[in-house]
Amino acid sequence: MGLQEIKLKDAISMRDHEKKSFVKAINELGKNIEIMKLEQTKLSRDAHECANLIPDMDKMLSAIQTQVTKFEDLKQKYNEEVAKRKKLYNQVEEAKGNIRVFCRCRPLDKHEVSAGHTMVVDFSASKDGDLGIVTGSSTKKLYRFDRIYTPNDGQVDVFADASPMVISVLDGYNVCIFAYGQTGTGKTFTMEGTEKNRGVNYRTLEALFDTVEERKDTFSFNISICVLEVYNEQIRDLLATSRTTKKLEVRQASEGAHHVPGIVEAKVESIREVWNALQAGSNARAVGSNNVNEHSSRSHCMICITVKSKNLLNGECTKSKLWLVDLAGSEKLAKTNVQGDRLKEAQNINRSLSALGDVISALASKSTHIPYRNSKLTHLLQDSLGGDSKTVMYVQISPSEHDMSETLSSLNFATRVRGVELGPAKKQIDYSELQKLKSSLDKAKQDLRLKDEAIKKLEENYQSLEIKIKCKDQMHKNQQDQVDDVTGQLELKTQLCKQLEKQTSQLSDEVKEKQDMCSTLQKRVIELENKLKERTQMFEHKLSISEEKIKKLEYILERQDGQVDSQMLNQKIKEFEEKPLQQVEQLDFSAQTQSFSSERSQIAPSERKTWSTQTPVGVMTHNRRILKSSNRLPSHGSALVRGTESLRELRRKHDAHNRGGVENTFIPPSVISDPSVDEKRPGARRVDPSKAFARLTRSGKSFAVTRNKINIEQAQRVKERDVNTRVWSR
Ligand code: ADP
Ligand code: MG
Repeated sequence: MGLQEIKLKDAISMRDHEKKSFVKAINELGKNIEIMKLEQTKLSRDAHECANLIPDMDKMLSAIQTQVTKFEDLKQKYNEEVAKRKKLYNQVEEAKGNIRVFCRCRPLDKHEVSAGHTMVVDFSASKDGDLGIVTGSSTKKLYRFDRIYTPNDGQVDVFADASPMVISVLDGYNVCIFAYGQTGTGKTFTMEGTEKNRGVNYRTLEALFDTVEERKDTFSFNISICVLEVYNEQIRDLLATSRTTKKLEVRQASEGAHHVPGIVEAKVESIREVWNALQAGSNARAVGSNNVNEHSSRSHCMICITVKSKNLLNGECTKSKLWLVDLAGSEKLAKTNVQGDRLKEAQNINRSLSALGDVISALASKSTHIPYRNSKLTHLLQDSLGGDSKTVMYVQISPSEHDMSETLSSLNFATRVRGVELGPAKKQIDYSELQKLKSSLDKAKQDLRLKDEAIKKLEENYQSLEIKIKCKDQMHKNQQDQVDDVTGQLELKTQLCKQLEKQTSQLSDEVKEKQDMCSTLQKRVIELENKLKERTQMFEHKLSISEEKIKKLEYILERQDGQVDSQMLNQKIKEFEEKPLQQVEQLDFSAQTQSFSSERSQIAPSERKTWSTQTPVGVMTHNRRILKSSNRLPSHGSALVRGTESLRELRRKHDAHNRGGVENTFIPPSVISDPSVDEKRPGARRVDPSKAFARLTRSGKSFAVTRNKINIEQAQRVKERDVNTRVWSR
């Protein structure tokens, strides 16, 4: 029991302990849960943020895609541009000539100077590529090359003309640069140079790696180097670590390139590695020969750099070769003194150099057969001579008169290589040609200048014309506006004209009508005048009768003088006087009223004025009265008149009236042609007194005949009055 109790206690304590640990674990779990909850909320927040970022991401993605397409476009354009540049560069190089020959003359060395050797090389025209060799006191042989380097030109100048070849190599073209010349003229100096004064080899490779570095973003390059020599028509690998008895031969690969199976190709990635390889080759060359310089001059030292390039943008791959060759000395050995190995060496050198000359000559003349296989040298260079490949030849010469024959031989070889023969005779021709070309060039330049000036003038003229045209355009616009205005006015006036034409036609119609009316009225007037004449005749007839009666009465009166009362006589005279007058007036006015009453009612007052001048009835009446009274004037002897005051008074008044006086009690104002009165009364008839007077004078002929006492003065006064009246009536 005690044991069991102890066990139980242990168990209880263990359980308590476990319980505690469980509680602790639960607490930790709770904390963890809380932390996890927090993390979860954080994560969910992040998830939300991420979800929110998705559209932005989409935008960015689309932007990136557009950038990618742009980049693709640019890539394509860049590739196109690269291809164009390559093509153009190649064209430029081709234009310069695929085979280019430069001539370099070394300075006189110490021995030559001390020996007193003179310079036979004339550099006076070296800048034009012309080189003269003084062959005698007055003779000079001329040569022409792409470039002449004088003894003063350094390695940098020499390399400058070969440097474009580096780009050609990297663009995939094969290039061959070699130095040719007599031993001791500076072939090795030009190609290898010294450590302080590096030559073409080093500088070319340096430029090659510089350009590789420049193009590394778009191109990957794989460059390897082989260093070999050809001695006695045998290829010797100068980079081979172990000497093998296996003969190295040139083979044509399946793709058409030539290579030497088994030769060491050292992969180089920097100029330092290249330098190491070159040093290794140089060292190997020296091995096995007692005199390095002598050996080197009897073998061709060849460095082949193979460049494999890949365009990273379009995947285009190229493989090109750059050959840097330091040829064996071209000097001819004196046959008599040469025997054994030296003779063999000389023969091989001569054969290989002749083969090189033949190949280049065949290429220059575009011969169908190029004899590459005539020597190891040409066989090795086959890829890099002819076709698209570029060849640079440095022909090295000595300035010494001592080496003149070798110099001439080298220059002749170089000239053959260049494919252009330039003798002294030919030179003149060339010079004349050149002169012609120069003169034509000058002319062309002058023409160009003149044309430029003419073009400038034309441009100026064109500009001034443009300005004028602008001004004229403006003027034209203004004129157009004016024309528009005028057209508008014209239209208005045309409309007005039309209206006026209409009105004119209406008026002309009215005028016609009125003319017709006038003509009818005139006819009527003539008719009435005729009637009037008839009646006047009648009146005259009656008047003569009444005059006779008056005479009889006067006669009776004379007889009865003093018997009759004067008052009675006066009355009777009045009766007699008024009787015929009344008769006439009755006749006149009855006729007038009958004929005109109807017309007057139809005609306007203004028209009445017109025809009233042709019918001077009132005046006629008035004149008739005048006549009547004047008729009595001659009767001076009449006792009736002399004794009768009233008659005298009447005559006096009448005379006063005829003289323009105002005393006119006899004539009623209604019938006198008084313009002022007529003006005031537009409807009143106007009388032409002259016509009336004429008629009355005509009708009054009988009075004149019978009495013969018409006062001429009176008649003139009447006429004057007539004129005044006319003026007034107008
Ligand atoms: P090659 O290789 O043609 O036999 P080298 O390159 O060995 O001739 O030159 C012979 C000597 O003439 C060398 O000592 C070289 O330094 C010197 N020499 C050649 N060319 C020049 C030059 N342009 N300027 C100065 N020294 C030269
Ligand atoms: Mg040499």
